[in-house]
Amino acid sequence: MDLLVAKFGGTSVGDGSRIKKAAQSVVNEYMKGNQIVVVVSAVNKSTDELIGLSDDAVGAGLTDKQRAGIVAMGELTSVRLFSAAIESLGVKSEYIDPYHELWPVITDSNSLEAKIDFKSTEIKMEGIKTLLNQGIIPVICGFLGKGPLGEITTLGRGGSDVSAFLIGHCLEANEVIIVTDVDGVMSTDPNKIEDAKLLDEISVEEMRDLATHGAQVLHPHALTYKDPLINAKIINFAHGDLTSKGTRIVGPYEGDLLKGVSLYKNPISLIAVVGEGMIKKSGLFAGLSGCLAKEDINIFGISAAQNSMSAFVNKSDSNKAYHLLHQFVVETDVLSSLSLGRDTAMITFFSPDIIEKPGIISDITEPLRKSEINIVEIISSQTAIVLFVDWKDGEKAYELIKEVLE
Ligand code: ADP
Ligand code: ASP
Ligand code: MG
Repeated sequence: MDLLVAKFGGTSVGDGSRIKKAAQSVVNEYMKGNQIVVVVSAVNKSTDELIGLSDDAVGAGLTDKQRAGIVAMGELTSVRLFSAAIESLGVKSEYIDPYHELWPVITDSNSLEAKIDFKSTEIKMEGIKTLLNQGIIPVICGFLGKGPLGEITTLGRGGSDVSAFLIGHCLEANEVIIVTDVDGVMSTDPNKIEDAKLLDEISVEEMRDLATHGAQVLHPHALTYKDPLINAKIINFAHGDLTSKGTRIVGPYEGDLLKGVSLYKNPISLIAVVGEGMIKKSGLFAGLSGCLAKEDINIFGISAAQNSMSAFVNKSDSNKAYHLLHQFVVETDVLSSLSLGRDTAMITFFSPDIIEKPGIISDITEPLRKSEINIVEIISSQTAIVLFVDWKDGEKAYELIKEVLE
């Protein structure tokens, strides 16, 4: 017997016949002897409609608490519909919303972007286990939480993916199934590029990065709760079959972290190329990386300014890279010269929170300033910040940044 968590997105419960089909797919798995928990989003675009209505009716005067209470109506409705549809197929079901005594998802008091209180949630999940053991199919509102005063909170737009993985984690489920309106994770958004290709599988890290950079198909925080032992997949509702293949999300492999700091073991050399008007000349990046690629020299990072660009390479490759790039500079008219800089230590700070935490760069760099450690270069993206400091300062800087994370 497996314990499955199936999350149905808005489109997959978009009308009466879809709800019926979804309920049937759940009942089919139940009849095979599995336990199953259903997590549901609001029907179709009803969350958008509720937001539109509140904006039109009240506008800026609406408090966050009022807004959370109003948008919650989407999920409050869909769980009732879904649970009734299951019961109509002859199987016992109970809908669980934040007013129910067994409601499991506990959060802080932030109404619209609530943070999950994991410990309390884990304890409350015992009630859901009891229901499962009685042969009942619980249908739980996605996206919603319950704050410290018993008030309704929400986990942010798209948050029912987070609900599904959180519930899967706390129940030690065998599989979390995300049912949506595309066949799975594709090479890009299939609604933007028609011949996007379906991926059979994707790693947790890649999926997280894709989501953080804006692919809507899964909420970027959902995978925080992806246990290495839980299977996870994204499938299309159109099949009406929870055993459909879709895209499997694999890992994280034990020991792999989604958040952390690492210090690269070898010194990294910085080679800077300068030239007037580089910003207006196309193909310079390709030229620089191409001439290093020919000799199989790996580039750890590239940074660019108006009139310069720097490449970071392993110290053991630096002499060869220096000569190759010299040739490139001589042959390229906008480039004038280059220099082989100092040996640096590369420290990478990675976290899915970077994109939404104002001041995160200063949190990391402030302790270095206090210890008078100079930052030679810094490269940042939405999921990682890479710092280069003098090689001799590497260990110290690494320890200081680790303290920030702790
Ligand atoms: P749900 O309501 O089921 O949660 P969403 O609309 O939140 O569904 O997410 C599914 C949508 O994600 C797809 O309809 C698609 O337009 C979009 N999407 C963006 N990038 C990708 C991608 N790489 N692969 C698949 N879908 C993607
Ligand atoms: N219904 C909510 C929204 O539209 C949550 C979700 O769909 O995941 O944002
Ligand atoms: Mg979604």
